[in-house]
Amino acid sequence: MQREEMPVNVLFVGGGPANLAGAIRLMDLITGHNEAIEAGSKQGEAIQEPTIALLEKGSGIGSHQLSGAVLDPLALDELIPDWRTRDDFPLERMVERDEMVFLTGTGAIKAPWVPAEMHNHGKPIISLGLFCKWLAGIAEAKGVMMLPSFSGVDLLWDGDAVRGVRTGDKGVGPDGQPLDNFEPGMDLTAPITILGEGTRGHLSRKLIERRGLDKGRNPMAYEVGCKEIIELPAGSVTQGFAIHGLGYPLDMQTFGGWFCYSMAGDKACIGLLVACDAKDPMMDCHHLLQKLKTHPYIRKLLAGGKVVKYGAKTVTIGGWGSVPQLYTDGAMLVGDSASFLNPFRIKGIHLSMKSGMLAAEAAFEALVRGEASAAVLKRYQDALDASWVRQEMEFSKNFHAGFEGGIISGMIKTGLAYFFGPGSTIKPFSADFEHMKTLKAYYASGAQIEEKLEYDGKYIVDKLTDVFLSGTTHDEHQPAHLKIADTEVCATTCKEQFGNPCTKFCPAQVYNMVPNDETGRLEMRVDFSNCVHCKTCDIRDPYQQITWVPPQAGGGPEYGQM
Ligand code: SF4
Repeated sequence: MQREEMPVNVLFVGGGPANLAGAIRLMDLITGHNEAIEAGSKQGEAIQEPTIALLEKGSGIGSHQLSGAVLDPLALDELIPDWRTRDDFPLERMVERDEMVFLTGTGAIKAPWVPAEMHNHGKPIISLGLFCKWLAGIAEAKGVMMLPSFSGVDLLWDGDAVRGVRTGDKGVGPDGQPLDNFEPGMDLTAPITILGEGTRGHLSRKLIERRGLDKGRNPMAYEVGCKEIIELPAGSVTQGFAIHGLGYPLDMQTFGGWFCYSMAGDKACIGLLVACDAKDPMMDCHHLLQKLKTHPYIRKLLAGGKVVKYGAKTVTIGGWGSVPQLYTDGAMLVGDSASFLNPFRIKGIHLSMKSGMLAAEAAFEALVRGEASAAVLKRYQDALDASWVRQEMEFSKNFHAGFEGGIISGMIKTGLAYFFGPGSTIKPFSADFEHMKTLKAYYASGAQIEEKLEYDGKYIVDKLTDVFLSGTTHDEHQPAHLKIADTEVCATTCKEQFGNPCTKFCPAQVYNMVPNDETGRLEMRVDFSNCVHCKTCDIRDPYQQITWVPPQAGGGPEYGQM
């Protein structure tokens, strides 16, 4: 098949905060370099008409972005120092009330003391989707070529050096055969490819595996989070609040927590995060979020509220020990794809942005030298090791490992590490999926007693209603982008041992066990068009037989203000 080839100088894959910050930084460096040469204050050659491209699988920049989010503006201050005075900055509110709360079954205990690292007072509450859209506008104005509705499906190689990315074909039928509207993907070739695809990046995983970039590191670890935007009665939100909480509805074996932030107008958002290493095979983050909203403290906070938007995603919580080698010949890894999140603060946007900016500095150096070997791109790793990113992440390097023995021991270990330091070594932990217990081992009776919630379709909503509110669509005339190696395992071993956990942990009800028309046996049906691209199935499936691959680009959620 003849594929169009499009050569560019630097290719960013993924339109999240890491790559957008990187693209802006790179354009600033190139402009500064060219101006200095023209003014005669710098020796060397100008970088003539550079082509810097950014691929995004969503229909627009920001449409797949989801986070809390209270932004630590550390990296933004470096990148766009005047953001506070810009009229177009997409601010929801500034935090004026900052609290940490522990929920018991019916009560709430406000933490008397919160570590300084977790203070949010005076920080901006943002919608990550709108923030990315804003960054994209700035990058585009500086000359970055934005390519939304294009997904990277494969890496292009020159020996062991990355030489770009192949984008997905469009117009392929469910059987994999081309339809009348078939359009082959193109080969975007570049001496430097920067992968910032978010958590469990499809290409990032291929790169890490082929080049052994995770050798000697802990596996990446994740939490799945579900978030809703709640519309509240007119005039009820009068200040910017950021409330973080622990306890109900999670038990003392399951790591996670919740947040509730006010947003612009009369809106607030609420989210719950649960570790993907939860032992309970029936862990269902969406169900737990609805349960959280039934708590009297939350009911009072969100009184009269109506869910207007929903989304789900995974975040990386492995910390510094899970960060892979960040460079190889022709490529670098940034953002969530490289585990840049501080699990102690549950903050990662600032770390991701800084990683993108430092990768951009290495890319600039490579452009000037005309060489993008691993030896040149190692500059990124060195700069990151010397930066505040490493300093911040090193401090919480054993946070995740500390919780392997449960919540109480995790909190004690975290407290000791906070006051006496995290120790000199990185403690090992195993992959999330290895922690799931069988139904028999987790439930004394061998089966979960289904907990019923009263859905009112307004404040307590079922999963499918929430999927509708996420704006998710996929053209159904395409191959399923969730590949199950052997569906017989679903109907037999997995059903008996774990009770088909994917039917619970998937926050978009993609996986359903339905009776076979002829035999009546329960078998797996994959409703891939519901998928919100959170990757939980790829991470948490106990048999590791589900693989998420990019669907036809342009599909997926439409998160807007999320
Ligand atoms: Fe997330 Fe997988 Fe469900 Fe898609 S199918 S929403 S990636 S768990």
